[in-house]
Amino acid sequence: MSVLAVGSIAFDTVKTPFGSAQEVLGGSAVYFSLAASYFTSVNLVGVVGEDFQESHLQVLQERGIDLQGLETGPGKTFRWSGVYSYDLNERETLDTQLNVFADFRPKIPELYRDCRYLFLGNIDPDLQWDILQQVRKPDFISLDTMNYWIEHKRESLLRALSAVHLLTLNDGEARQISEEVNLVKASRKILELGPRIVIIKRGEYGALMFTDSTLFCAPGYPLEFVYDPTGAGDSFAGGLCGYLANLDNVCDSTLRQAIIFGSTMASFCVEAFSVQRLRNLTYAEILERYRQFRHLTHFDDVP
Ligand code: AMP
Repeated sequence: MSVLAVGSIAFDTVKTPFGSAQEVLGGSAVYFSLAASYFTSVNLVGVVGEDFQESHLQVLQERGIDLQGLETGPGKTFRWSGVYSYDLNERETLDTQLNVFADFRPKIPELYRDCRYLFLGNIDPDLQWDILQQVRKPDFISLDTMNYWIEHKRESLLRALSAVHLLTLNDGEARQISEEVNLVKASRKILELGPRIVIIKRGEYGALMFTDSTLFCAPGYPLEFVYDPTGAGDSFAGGLCGYLANLDNVCDSTLRQAIIFGSTMASFCVEAFSVQRLRNLTYAEILERYRQFRHLTHFDDVP
């Protein structure tokens, strides 16, 4: 089964203690699509400006991503700039220039409207809702958001949340949306808002999945070299949704596997700036790291 991804396509300027990158390819839909493309076919809907070059398109085309839903608007591509300190879980946004993204009204091509797996990347929750009105009846809708929308568009976000299956967010955002400090209580409250699965991304510390009946904890993969955490959350969602769409089976056991594939893709993402590491992976490398995750968390029961 293919997956439909809607989100930002960006030129990012990023500084970390280990280097910097200027106006490099990024955005939630880009990271998601590249990560998901190792598991299933991906249809991307987004907008770029007139400065988006053939070489940028090629990065997506080389991974077989379907770009019929990619619009080119008059003006410049969305730009984001951020800086990280030694605590790579914390970042500061220095600048956001919406450019063509300011007037983006996603139009889902007719061909994609029957999609069964849908990823709503971190964009204005009113647009996320608008997309939900255009698709027919996806079996699995995953939504990502950020502190800005929780603060400024809470009602719109709650409306979108009422119609999705999975919400991915970080621990600060989980606390903000639920107004609960404790993450178990926070997740319980979020489950009451609509999604039947909540996944809390905790950067290098891994991820927690909550449903009505289960709790699953995945560690972060202990990496010796981390250069740029940008896009880790979207790569996580890409690995997770791509794996589920490929199996076309969402249950407790496949969700656990999908979280590890998501964590695997996030761990590759952070090993280089921009999408460099996500461009040329092999499925064998991905599987090898998935198995290392298994080994990392395995322990025997006592007799
Ligand atoms: P992540 O690190 O997975 O949370 O996502 C990072 C990506 O989100 C970057 O490549 C940015 O271009 C993109 N981004 C940052 N701010 C926004 C925003 N306000 N709307 C949409 N995308 C954004």
